[in-house]
Amino acid sequence: MRITDATLSEAHRAVRDRVRKVAEAVIAPNAAAVDATGEFPVASHRALVAEGLYAPHVPEEYGGDGADTLTSCLIVEEVARVCASSSLTPNVTRLASLPLLLSGSAELGERYLRPLRDGAILAFALSEQDAGSDAASVRTRAVRVDGGYRIDGDKRWITNAGVADYYLVAAVTDPDAGAHGVSMFVVHSTDEGVSAGPDEDKLGMRGSPTCPVHLRGVHVPADRLVGAEGEGLRLALGALDHSRITIAAQAVGIAQGALDHAAGYVAQRRQFGRPLADFQGLRFKLADMAMHLEAARQLTYAAAARSTQDSPDLRFFSAAAKCFASDTAMQVTTDAVQLLGGHGYTRNAPVERMMRDAKVTQIYEGANEILRTVMAKQVLADH
Ligand SMILES: Cc1cc2nc3c(=O)[nH]c(=O)nc-3n(C[C@H](O)[C@H](O)[C@H](O)COP(=O)(O)OP(=O)(O)OC[C@H]3O[C@@H](n4cnc5c(N)ncnc54)[C@H](O)[C@@H]3O)c2cc1C
Repeated sequence: MRITDATLSEAHRAVRDRVRKVAEAVIAPNAAAVDATGEFPVASHRALVAEGLYAPHVPEEYGGDGADTLTSCLIVEEVARVCASSSLTPNVTRLASLPLLLSGSAELGERYLRPLRDGAILAFALSEQDAGSDAASVRTRAVRVDGGYRIDGDKRWITNAGVADYYLVAAVTDPDAGAHGVSMFVVHSTDEGVSAGPDEDKLGMRGSPTCPVHLRGVHVPADRLVGAEGEGLRLALGALDHSRITIAAQAVGIAQGALDHAAGYVAQRRQFGRPLADFQGLRFKLADMAMHLEAARQLTYAAAARSTQDSPDLRFFSAAAKCFASDTAMQVTTDAVQLLGGHGYTRNAPVERMMRDAKVTQIYEGANEILRTVMAKQVLADH
């Protein structure tokens, strides 16, 4: 039985049912192969674009549906339930689109958000070798030149690198201004001096490309500056506040996929003359998995509402949802492997892939340790 959410509106349930159909018919059958080969899941991408489920958050004036954050969460959750790698492309495209939306530039929106309807892929290039959790220490440099900027530097861990059409790049325009000296630019993958690769050899999310991006004397016209000079970090962190809610949804989806498999397995598998599901110790484990998963889902949906309303407690809720859901996904997927015994430890069952995929949800878009410091700051603010 799937736990249904009586609080979802009819429209949200309809989106969930639509994406679930695509996920099961097109995405699930390729999930094991995507993981095994590490190839970008082209079929998943095409199916989501064809069904209008790739970037529904894009405002109507740029050809999108203007869908709320919960809609994006439901899509990511259902895709991640069957193939986490396939859920990362729309997730990160959305993340990279948010600085454009937050900057409020109609011109940039027209140029870079409208193409998302046809499947254009965005990447969000903030991290560097020595700037991970400490994002303010980026070194990539943007120097003013005639007509625009010249960008030099190396980004690291960039999702969608190599397949992206456009990169949102954080670069230092004023080295003396610290966090206020970072600006955000749109760089085209076809710009001279841009290259990506090689792909990182990762534990999980193996169908999602993660590469360094090299910028060598890249000329970027002035009209590709997002927001004002010095606003880059504010835009990046603001985007992450909204985006890590869909990472929470990704974690919920991965955990749901693992729970579904584990429940199906223990109902069938017999030991000591009985189905495993008859043993109380395993029933308690299943109950705990479902209970934590549902708590993670409800916190994620509550955070999604804060994102849509741009509510003042968004930063706390998005950190809490991502942290709780990713920790839950790690626990639930590990428990699922345990419930399948030796079978769970092999590639014959998808739960080991789900366990590997779950791990990174505790790391990216703010490692959970950093998110706990973010939450503590909010808690202490009133004291
Ligand atoms: C698969 C994958 C995809 C990614 N995609 C992108 C992307 O598309 N764009 C992008 O810009 N980045 C991306 N990243 C980078 C990701 O956001 C960083 O890996 C993450 O922010 C952590 O940075 P780091 O790896 O440098 O770890 P570090 O910052 O070196 O941290 C290492 C450990 O120390 C902990 N730690 C650090 N500082 C503190 C502190 N003050 N207090 C307590 N604990 C602390 C961290 O929580 C972590 O556990 C991706 C990473 C991965 C693995």
